[in-house]
Amino acid sequence: MTVTVRFAPSPTGQLHVGNYRAALFNWLYAKKHGGKFILRLDDTDLERSTQEYADGIKADLAWAGLPHDELFRQSDRFDRYDLATEKLKEMGLLYACYETADELDLKRKRLQARGLPPVYDRAGKALTQEERTALEAEGRKPHWRFLLDPQMVEWEDVIKGHTRADPKSLSDPILIRDDGSYLYTLPSVVDDIEMGITLVIRGDDHTTNTGAQIQIFKALGATLPQFGHYSLLVDAEGKPLSKRLRGELSLEAIREKGFEPLTLAAQLARLGTSHAPEAMLSMDEIVDDFKLDAFGVSQVRFDLKDLERLNASLMHLTPFETVKDRLAERGITDENFWNTVRANLTLFDGVAEWWHIIHGPVEPVIEDEDAEMIEQAAALLPAEPWDLETWKTWTTEVKSATGRKGRGLFMPLRKALTGLHHGPELANLLPLIGRERVLVRLTGARD
Ligand code: GLU
Repeated sequence: MTVTVRFAPSPTGQLHVGNYRAALFNWLYAKKHGGKFILRLDDTDLERSTQEYADGIKADLAWAGLPHDELFRQSDRFDRYDLATEKLKEMGLLYACYETADELDLKRKRLQARGLPPVYDRAGKALTQEERTALEAEGRKPHWRFLLDPQMVEWEDVIKGHTRADPKSLSDPILIRDDGSYLYTLPSVVDDIEMGITLVIRGDDHTTNTGAQIQIFKALGATLPQFGHYSLLVDAEGKPLSKRLRGELSLEAIREKGFEPLTLAAQLARLGTSHAPEAMLSMDEIVDDFKLDAFGVSQVRFDLKDLERLNASLMHLTPFETVKDRLAERGITDENFWNTVRANLTLFDGVAEWWHIIHGPVEPVIEDEDAEMIEQAAALLPAEPWDLETWKTWTTEVKSATGRKGRGLFMPLRKALTGLHHGPELANLLPLIGRERVLVRLTGARD
């Protein structure tokens, strides 16, 4: 059986890093097993789903490097859901209910006041045909609930291990709203069956749904897929991702901040396992390394600061070949430049700053107490051609002439040459800056 998995976002908002994890896990799993990755837009909610969000999801996945093999939209498939509905009705597993949202709320509150779980009382199921007709004559329209079997539902979860869902603690789920529209539960099962999904990988917030959905799979006579429910992300303070943070952690925001898609993938393919995330140079490496059953059950903390650190280590490792075209877009073709500055980058965009520091204009910083030493250093500057040894040759001479050494020697030179306290190895920078600019900067002038 071909491994077939799906990512099933609702196009009712932007993808955030939590949704991205579902996409990533499914995609990695498909690649690892030579399987198929389906993008399914769960857009049965016609009011809240928009084309703009659907396009945004596709753009985000393309940026993230998670291309799909097939695309489906649930809004194209209502006839399939209608057939399944008829089947369930014929089996007596779907029953009409007429309570309004307020009436249901009142029922729940009454049960809770008595210390009972707020499980629906199946009043709809007990209605006679006359009662239903009378309710409909009042102008009420039915919504439809699936009749749960009270027997405990159990499965071997690929991530959580043996898992149980007790239908007795659940209300019969509403599959169809009173305006005739489908909620997520039934279309998802129908699609998982018809698309031959072999494993459903999704967040732990769906574990309860799985209990009901397994019963629907069985009622429709289908073979069950496997399930894997991963624990959810929390923010750096350990709180669930808030609405506010979801904006900051949308894929669009992460992309706009300048993170590499490879960083995000490497971070999330390991976060929540016992192996710390490491920078990886290709999706293939991440695929090889990925193990779905390595994820634990505790919450997973996501912090943008960790992503920054990982992005920096990816930059550090990235060979010139990989970024050649992106550098060329900025007019940079010098391999030495990349090899020199990459260890000092957090984000790729940082190349602009280092390019500028090398090519100027730079505002040199020369403290009064260093002025004399800098003047001597200028006089001792070797003739070109320069190479990676020039720095050593030069500073050895400056050292014997001025008696300065260590930080007292290197920091004033760094500040004069770059205007900064930190940066790439000066031995590498020096030949890139070149003798002419170095001389100007050592006089304290802008070059
Ligand atoms: N549309 C559902 C969601 O975004 C899909 C859940 C699933 O993977 O079954 O939560």
